[in-house]
Amino acid sequence: MPDQTFVIPAPPVPSLPIEGVDARFPVRRIYCIGRNYGKHVREMGGDPKEQPPVFFMKPGDAAVADATIPYPPGTANFHHEIELVAALKGGGSNVSPEEALGLVYGYAAGVDLTRRDLQTVAKDKGQPWDSGKGFDASAPIGPIRPADRCGPLDGRIALSVNGVVKQDGLLSDMIWSVAETISQISKLWTLQPGDLIFTGTPDGVGPLVRGDRVSGEIAGVGTVAFTVA
Ligand code: MN
Repeated sequence: MPDQTFVIPAPPVPSLPIEGVDARFPVRRIYCIGRNYGKHVREMGGDPKEQPPVFFMKPGDAAVADATIPYPPGTANFHHEIELVAALKGGGSNVSPEEALGLVYGYAAGVDLTRRDLQTVAKDKGQPWDSGKGFDASAPIGPIRPADRCGPLDGRIALSVNGVVKQDGLLSDMIWSVAETISQISKLWTLQPGDLIFTGTPDGVGPLVRGDRVSGEIAGVGTVAFTVA
């Protein structure tokens, strides 16, 4: 393919560091599932057995590894949601759950940052979630750990703010497994290498304010940490 010329400088490819690997993971799209832990579904007013999975997206360049996250504009209720993130090396459509984990390059701890007030208005009015979920730097993610070095994905997932534990759950409490989530997303979109999948958050979501120090940890996967500027 010949070199392309562009009328403006081409935007950089968003990318994330990989634990123990001297190369970065290029990010294409960010898919997210809502309502995937029973307790969080209940705290948000739903019944986990009656709700089908809800999917939404963030722009790829919302993925950031920076240690400082700006307090976003347009919100007075900025929330944390610690989540297991799967980073894909393969893709496809109509992927079976049995095939799905074979697409995963690695896993990371990420935070689905949310302008909860804007999301709540959107939910109430039946409007899109983009302004509540897909804003700049809304997806801080820790180093990606290659899948073959991760532990079993059934342990603790927790987040602390200023050293106080706010979210403390178990990956084994997921309603839809990572494999089932990948399979279901692939029925709606063609997955590609570079896609990230946020797999939902346990209960305990809550607000962040400027100056907060946020740290998350997922057993067998790794950590994510940032300060709200
Ligand atoms: Mn979420």
